[in-house]
Amino acid sequence: MIYSFEKSDPAKSRFIERLTAGDIDFELIDHDRSVVRILGSIDDNCGAALEKIYEGRRKLTVGRLEYSDSPSDFRDPDSLTVIAGPCSVESEQQIDAVVSFLKTTGVRYIRGGAFKPRTSASSFQGMGKTGLKIISDCAHAAGIKVVSEVMDRSQIDMLLEYADVIQVGSRNMFNYTLITALGSVDRPVLLKRGMAATVDEWLQAADYISRGGNDSVILCERGIRTFEPSTRNTLDIAAIHIAKERSGYPVIADPSHAAGNSDFVAPLAMASAAAGADGVMIEIHPHPENALSDRNQALRFDQFEQLLARLATLRPIR
Ligand code: PEP
Ligand code: MN
Repeated sequence: MIYSFEKSDPAKSRFIERLTAGDIDFELIDHDRSVVRILGSIDDNCGAALEKIYEGRRKLTVGRLEYSDSPSDFRDPDSLTVIAGPCSVESEQQIDAVVSFLKTTGVRYIRGGAFKPRTSASSFQGMGKTGLKIISDCAHAAGIKVVSEVMDRSQIDMLLEYADVIQVGSRNMFNYTLITALGSVDRPVLLKRGMAATVDEWLQAADYISRGGNDSVILCERGIRTFEPSTRNTLDIAAIHIAKERSGYPVIADPSHAAGNSDFVAPLAMASAAAGADGVMIEIHPHPENALSDRNQALRFDQFEQLLARLATLRPIR
């Protein structure tokens, strides 16, 4: 069970005192608000006492939310929000080039991982804090917002310092300690669908974040593993519509990780927008052939410009 308290709420200490008195283990996660995760089981007496203390506070169950605090950019049905940038932050020069280019396109969100979940331990692991600082300094100076991935709870404060949207990668959608902790922050969370997660599991993961008090969730369909080897993953177009209908959260698509090949990115992006995605996230690189991660799927700037022009025939880009 997960309970959420605003920092100033005096009920929090009473709640914790009751848990301590009952010798019940719990975990307290403090960022912008406090999230209490109860470990073990509680008897009816204690449960009733806790419910009484918690009365009137946040209780959510999986289902369609009446509203969502996700950034309004992603909730405008008449436009399409675009996030673009390299798979990984690699250097100041690389990010400078991407930011200057994005400024010419009107795209207002840059992506770039500083903590990279790489399949091989011998692969480039990202630039860490140095990378976050590079992307934040450069993008923010140009008025562009930063989307970057958190891999571990210990990195949350660092992400809060540098990123405007915190990404949870496909491999971490099932990391319940990480997503529980993200309930305690006031920052939008871009929650990628696990590569082997059902829509229901994905929405329940989002529920962990909102249970903690953070309604600012953006869901991202990035393809699932199937038996089809011609693409890296199979983009589940129907899931875009289903997740939107069932959750009320904005849903964007990441055709780059679904495709795994730059040739397929544009058609999958178009299909996502046509299916009602609120946005798309696209990997681009000044020199894809030299990219330190995911080079096969990155678009060159000219290819990305062509894609933007095609997307704009469906809905205005923002
Ligand atoms: C990414 O966006 O760079 C990434 C690692 O994607 P995913 O988590 O979808 O594999
Ligand atoms: Mn990538």
